[in-house]
Amino acid sequence: MSKESKRREALLYHAKPRPGKIQVVPTKKYASQRDLSLAYSPGVAEPCLEIEKEVNNVYKYTNKGNLVAVISNGTAVLGLGNIGPEASKPVMEGKGLLFKIFADIDVFDIEVNTENVDEFIETVKNIAPTFGGINLEDIKAPEAFEIEQRLKAELDIPVMHDDQHGTAIISAAALLNALELTKKNISEIKIVISGAGAAAVSCTRLYKSFGAKAENIVMLDSKGVIRADRDSLSAEKAEFATERKIDTLDEALKDADVFVGLSIANIVSPAMLMSMAKDPIVFAMANPDPEIEYELAINTRDDIIMATGRSDHPNQVNNVLGFPFIFRGALDVRASKINEPMKMAAVQALALLAKEPVPEQVNIAYGETKLNFGRDYIIPKPFDPRLIAKVPPAVAKAAMESGVATEPISDWQKYEDELYE
Ligand code: NAP
Ligand code: MG
Repeated sequence: MSKESKRREALLYHAKPRPGKIQVVPTKKYASQRDLSLAYSPGVAEPCLEIEKEVNNVYKYTNKGNLVAVISNGTAVLGLGNIGPEASKPVMEGKGLLFKIFADIDVFDIEVNTENVDEFIETVKNIAPTFGGINLEDIKAPEAFEIEQRLKAELDIPVMHDDQHGTAIISAAALLNALELTKKNISEIKIVISGAGAAAVSCTRLYKSFGAKAENIVMLDSKGVIRADRDSLSAEKAEFATERKIDTLDEALKDADVFVGLSIANIVSPAMLMSMAKDPIVFAMANPDPEIEYELAINTRDDIIMATGRSDHPNQVNNVLGFPFIFRGALDVRASKINEPMKMAAVQALALLAKEPVPEQVNIAYGETKLNFGRDYIIPKPFDPRLIAKVPPAVAKAAMESGVATEPISDWQKYEDELYE
């Protein structure tokens, strides 16, 4: 299909038969006058009074517990940059569609017209009573770090900035499995991270939670290696600054075990790949074009394990493997947070699932014949029906064990059965 016909197909998809991708659907009967008097006045006053008496009754009588706000100010949309709140709306609606189809979570997409951190935080706090959870989306770094941190501290519902943690969770699962395949130990591997933005910082923090050593990590931004002796580093960059006296990606990659790209296209050359250690793990996740093209990379080294952000290659690091299921688990135990143990539990669940035999329907959905744990299959595929049964319970359990679940689950079998429905 030509570029122009793809463009028209995408525009038509969004415009017809009705503009946009999600709508509101009633969940109660509305056929008779009696139904309407229950749905609205006078019947509606009863739940209002119950909630006024005990605010947690809002979960019993309204959709709050299954409603997530996907909120953006449009400052870092996809790879498109700061395109403004209205232009970000198709992305937020799309996220709503994914929440719904993968985890049956309802979404209101909210596009906020401010780049001011305090104003943005105030807006989200003021509308939080409506929602059971907040998915922050496509907000530029470094503002996104402060926005997420403050909202997490100040709200009692789960808040997650998916561009940071989604990518971290999926790529960490891929990393654990790639290390298992190459028989390398996370505490010993040398890791090079290209990029120091929202995604890179969060990924690196999570790899450290799993045992990666600070002294084995080199991070680069647009100016080169982030060295401890560099002037005016942001707090996030300073956190990953290296003591090594090197400046370039070329130098950093020599003998490295892992390359994680969350930066820009085509900055890794075949010569750089050749200089990496045996069985190099290369996650080139710049979108739409990776740090090194897939074909070029696998033709350069046959001992490579390669992942990208693209759906047309194996091992796509796709956030949809994470956010629907993480929020599902968090909402189902009414967690007050999405914390580190919950993210780590999601990582483990995803990594484990990739090692189990793949159901035939997944092979069929992807036009494959034999998906099997190995170099070309280190993370599950989004249309794997087992995701909804495996990831939310793992997240929910971690929420309970870490003390942030306010409505614990006791019958896990019943819960899993309900998830499968
Ligand atoms: P971001 O916050 O804007 O960060 C981009 C980072 O890349 C910045 O730290 C920037 O450096 C750095 N950079 C720019 N040119 C560079 C170069 N030549 N060498 C090394 N670093 C360079 O963006 P983000 O949200 O983290 O996303 C970064 C990339 O990852 C995008 O391409 C995005 O599409 C992709 N991504 C993919 C996935 C996925 O595959 N699932 C998920 C998230 C993001 P400065 O700090 O100096 O400006
Ligand atoms: Mg995003």
